[in-house]
Amino acid sequence: MTRHPDDAEIDSTVYKTLLESTKAIPWKIDWSTMRFAYIGPQIESLLGWPPSTWASVEDWAARMHPDDRERVVNFCVAQSQAGTDHEADYRALTRDGGYVWIRDVVHVVRNDNGDVDSLVGFMFDISERKKTEEELATLQKELEELSFKDGLTGVANRRMFDSILDLEWTRARRNNQSLALIMFDIDYFKQYNDRYGHVQGDDCLKRVAQTLGSAATRSRDFLARFGGEEFVLVLPETDEKAAIKIAERCRHLIFKEQIAHETSPVSQILTVSIGVGAIVPTLQDEPLRFVEEVDKRLYLAKQQGRNRIVNGP
Ligand code: GH3
Ligand code: MG
Ligand code: MG
Repeated sequence: MTRHPDDAEIDSTVYKTLLESTKAIPWKIDWSTMRFAYIGPQIESLLGWPPSTWASVEDWAARMHPDDRERVVNFCVAQSQAGTDHEADYRALTRDGGYVWIRDVVHVVRNDNGDVDSLVGFMFDISERKKTEEELATLQKELEELSFKDGLTGVANRRMFDSILDLEWTRARRNNQSLALIMFDIDYFKQYNDRYGHVQGDDCLKRVAQTLGSAATRSRDFLARFGGEEFVLVLPETDEKAAIKIAERCRHLIFKEQIAHETSPVSQILTVSIGVGAIVPTLQDEPLRFVEEVDKRLYLAKQQGRNRIVNGP
């Protein structure tokens, strides 16, 4: 019958072999001297610093990214003093000047009196995980932006428009200020696609968005793609007279672009029809009704021959 050796019988070299064959890097610090009693040789292949250069806790702290140092050192010292096992993530400096993300898992060893005797722990290379986390965070941010941004033109999308309009509506009502809306619809855009193809149609939409974006200059002026070839400007603290001026500027800027539209029945170059409205909202008014009203004016501009601006009665 085979006999299992008990702890006392296992040679310490076995422990050493075991410790030094793991990917995690073991270490021990004496609490009284704050010096390393041991650090696994694996540290050298991970960071480039040989074990002999890990003498005191200062060496440990010095080889930490400056942005992590204060947080991590303070945390680890406090936890150790309290005698609490803990773990910390930080970037460790490599000998060639780079950084590796490390998770340090620390166990506090007490003596028979219950006083802290030493700290033992393992350092884990978590750079792969951190890389994945960072990539996820970037993706998440892109996704958030995408869900508020129109993918083609880069301006805000309809969803963002709804939120901004709600916000500015409430603000205008509270401050008793005029809020203006300008709605644009490209004339005969179906013909444009038919004549020049969808790719050029897409380019045209980008150019129009860029042009309209440059027409309104106040910090809270806001442009969104309302639908296919429709755009909308939200202009806070703007009355109808001022909004008409901006609408005229938009029409002029689009004209200046001189985008050829040979098959347009109204002009040889690309034109837009525009509806303009302004309101000092009261509790009786609703943003949706206001949008519908301005949309109606845009429709009138189409009916009256396109390439024109229609404002309130
Ligand atoms: P009107 O002067 O009455 O506005 O005529 P229109 O042809 O501009 O209006 P209509 O609503 O009949 O057609 C709009 C066209 O816009 C049809 C659609 O294919 C095109 N369109 C919508 N979104 C996009 C897009 O993202 N890219 C391209 N290339 N075309 C688009
Ligand atoms: Mg349309
Ligand atoms: Mg159109």
